[in-house]
Amino acid sequence: MAAQMDFMRRAIDLARHAVDTGSGGPFGCVIVKDGVIVAEGFNQVRATQDPTAHGEMVGLRAAAAALGTADLSGCEIYNISVPCPMCLAALYWAKIDKVFYCCLPEDADAAGYDNVTIARHLQKPIEAQPIRSERIEALYDDALAVYRHAVAMRRTAANALSPPPPIVGDATIPT
Ligand SMILES: [Zn+2]
Repeated sequence: MAAQMDFMRRAIDLARHAVDTGSGGPFGCVIVKDGVIVAEGFNQVRATQDPTAHGEMVGLRAAAAALGTADLSGCEIYNISVPCPMCLAALYWAKIDKVFYCCLPEDADAAGYDNVTIARHLQKPIEAQPIRSERIEALYDDALAVYRHAVAMRRTAANALSPPPPIVGDATIPT
């Protein structure tokens, strides 16, 4: 419990740091594996002009880099608040084991952050959400073919009992 309090205090300090340095909103976290902090994050949206640079996203990227894997199974995150919908989804993608938090979405909302509003939007089908969207059905077969290609490649790789080849250089697809 004492360690948990220390981890959360560090997350709160990082959140305060984000505000005091003008880096971004009052959000900070630490990511812990086997009782040791492997990465930290605080909101850097304003500093980097990156709308996804929430504390948790910054922390996840740092943890993945530190551990050399996108699979953060076995890691716990100590976050000043319940993650926003984007970050909570990212925690699922990263397979984070457990989230510790202090503040509630309502607290962030009251401080001027859209956590509750966005969560409400996401409960609706895409066409009923305020963000404008349009399906381009004419290219559906082409798009779906890429998914099928990915599945086939995965099967081939599994059959060969070898991992897919690493991406060399930048991942720019020639046009
Ligand atoms: Zn977030």
